[in-house]
Amino acid sequence: MDTYAPSDVEFVAGRGATLWDAQGRAYLDAIAGVGVSLLGHAHPALVAAIADQAGRLLHVSNLCHSPWAQQLAERLTALSGLRRAFFCNSGAEANEAALKLARLHAQRRGVAQPLVLVMDGGFHGRTLATLSASASPAVRAGFGPHVEGFLRLPFGDLAAVAAAQAAHGDRIVALLVEPVQGEGGVHLAPPGYLRGLRTLCSQHGWLLMLDEVQTGLGRTGRWFAGQHEDVQPDVMTLAKGLAGGVPIGACLADGAAAELFTPGSHGSTFGGNPLACRAACTVLDVMAREDLVARAAQRGQALLAGLQAALAGDPRVRAVRGLGLMIGIELDRPARELALRALQRHRLLINVTHGTVIRLLPPLVLTVAEAQAIVSAVVDLVKGMDAG
Ligand SMILES: *Cc1c(COP(=O)(O)O)cnc(C)c1O
Repeated sequence: MDTYAPSDVEFVAGRGATLWDAQGRAYLDAIAGVGVSLLGHAHPALVAAIADQAGRLLHVSNLCHSPWAQQLAERLTALSGLRRAFFCNSGAEANEAALKLARLHAQRRGVAQPLVLVMDGGFHGRTLATLSASASPAVRAGFGPHVEGFLRLPFGDLAAVAAAQAAHGDRIVALLVEPVQGEGGVHLAPPGYLRGLRTLCSQHGWLLMLDEVQTGLGRTGRWFAGQHEDVQPDVMTLAKGLAGGVPIGACLADGAAAELFTPGSHGSTFGGNPLACRAACTVLDVMAREDLVARAAQRGQALLAGLQAALAGDPRVRAVRGLGLMIGIELDRPARELALRALQRHRLLINVTHGTVIRLLPPLVLTVAEAQAIVSAVVDLVKGMDAG
């Protein structure tokens, strides 16, 4: 169906941050399948693990215990400090699980008309509940009636959360937020915001639910973006890069929230599938072995500084911001055509989100030379637009 507007370029192979088209032309991948290919393309360890697992066992269902799901759960709970994990197949499905936990939390507290706080600029997926939690009119339009029970507040504004508490405190049960908004234009939470949310949620018994589908797993230079402020959520969702390109989602939970699902209350046929879980365990192995979280922090800082220096004072540029290898360049005009121009003229894959923001989400294995090539191509692209 007509859900996407893809460019004409077709890629047939990749390695690291390089992609090749059918004519053998090389391209630099600065978007990594929208934040998915953390290890780049065709990482030998991931290729070998997937091939080996495919030759043993692809799927058994959740009627049986799965050692790979068990191992992945143990590793993610150890990394995050959260006690339990539920596995599914996408970011939207992970957020659905989180939202269902919020409803069960409401029921346990005897709240009949529960509200989940969500944010302007937020994006949580395309299912009916997650699009209802998302802010963008483009995501929501045409799909009413929306799922009820969300109250949207300005992102980054603790006073707005306190005001919501004063007005609707008896109905609020949870708060769902991205630590860095991705689709919404790469907006960082202001310093102290996440910590302030943690305090408010703890005070009022609300579940703090961090959507780390895009920011998780090293992308921002920490394993999880909440860790920049030492914030431990009650619920955290992961997907995109978790299995390096094999579809997977995870909803992690701690405390009472970890015990809300009981056998039969939630599920997913493919969730915890051995292929996806082994791929994810391999991603975690490689990330530790190649120190990719630290690499994301270093490369990200260099990339951001390079772009900020080269674009300083440019009248077309409103802001250059980012955290780790999640970077946005906000322009003063609609910039959708830049993605195609980058492909055709610079053989560079980027993405334009929220209409005016160039978004960079390169693989964490990015080399210094590749980071420099991204800076010079992006600067050429921006300078190639008509000045102001
Ligand atoms: C991509 C994304 C989602 C949705 O993930 P899907 O796998 O496309 O369902 C949800 N939340 C955030 C923050 C995302 O970036």
